[in-house]
Amino acid sequence: MSYEKERQVAIEAALTAAKLCEKVRQERVPEAIEKSDKSPVTVADFGSQAVICRALAAAFPDDPVVGEEDAAALREPSMAAQLQQVTNYVQALTGEANPEAVLSWINRGNSEIAPRYWTLDPIDGTKGFLRQDQYAVALALVEKGEVKLGVLACPALPLALDQPNGERGVLFVAVRGQGAIMLPLAGGTPRPIRVAAADDLANLRFVESVESGHGDHSRQDAVAKAVGITADSLRMDSQAKYGAVASGQAALYLRLPSPKSPDYREKIWDHAAGTIVVEEAGGRVTDMYGKPLNFSLGAKLADNQGVIVSNGSIHDQVIAALQETIG
Ligand code: AMP
Ligand code: MG
Repeated sequence: MSYEKERQVAIEAALTAAKLCEKVRQERVPEAIEKSDKSPVTVADFGSQAVICRALAAAFPDDPVVGEEDAAALREPSMAAQLQQVTNYVQALTGEANPEAVLSWINRGNSEIAPRYWTLDPIDGTKGFLRQDQYAVALALVEKGEVKLGVLACPALPLALDQPNGERGVLFVAVRGQGAIMLPLAGGTPRPIRVAAADDLANLRFVESVESGHGDHSRQDAVAKAVGITADSLRMDSQAKYGAVASGQAALYLRLPSPKSPDYREKIWDHAAGTIVVEEAGGRVTDMYGKPLNFSLGAKLADNQGVIVSNGSIHDQVIAALQETIG
């Protein structure tokens, strides 16, 4: 299968969602609404999920979407002003919206996994979004547990990480068996991307989360040093980290369980799109024990702990170094 229609629809939807998110960041200081698990959500998270689910519903009405957000909180009478804001943004980007339609599009993202499903993080790295930092719109198609297509829109990511003041806004796209590309979000020529070559690792960094609660910074540092990465890590929110590895700008992304939540299980929407982008760029993604990520069990990667993303050549060495830090 070429997945040509899926690819077109996913790219269009992610671009629209990215524009919505940037419009929110330009027009207001995004306010965090606290979810029941204490994590933040914003008007832009809801708007992004609405426009993507709307597009997927039109093109693939039978496909379930497993998304991060849920419309229940927005339905509360106390949230009427926020619902109206979301509706206004969706209207501005799509030319069509009313509050009931917006709620039902968001709720389309509350499906269970199935033999074929989409998974969506409308804003991955909401904390980064709130800090005027990195975030990503992440959309992936999964069939029989295998990610087939991934799109990552990273509106604040510099095209070149070593030129932080240069042009920003990158789209990463990968289809299984067809390679991975990146292109400027503003438009331009797509270029194929490859992970860093084995003989080009000397100057490379590793990437990790900004949030200390989403990883284990000190152990990550020790593992990176053990495999010969001496440069300081680059801390970045969201799956933009996968983009950094896929485009050869970082050798490794380490996400080890935080000591504050050692039993945490990662969410599928935090990894599906990034995984295929890195794999199609020639890299490798496993959990901290070297097991492939299993996207067929539900909204959580219940079989996996931690995530290791590398250029491939150093992967086994990283897993071995990690085992030594346990003992
Ligand atoms: P990042 O931007 O890489 O720090 O990752 C953001 C994602 O971390 C959010 O989308 C959450 O789903 C996820 N997250 C929340 N709590 C944890 C945790 N304790 N460990 C790892 N990831 C988490
Ligand atoms: Mg997320």
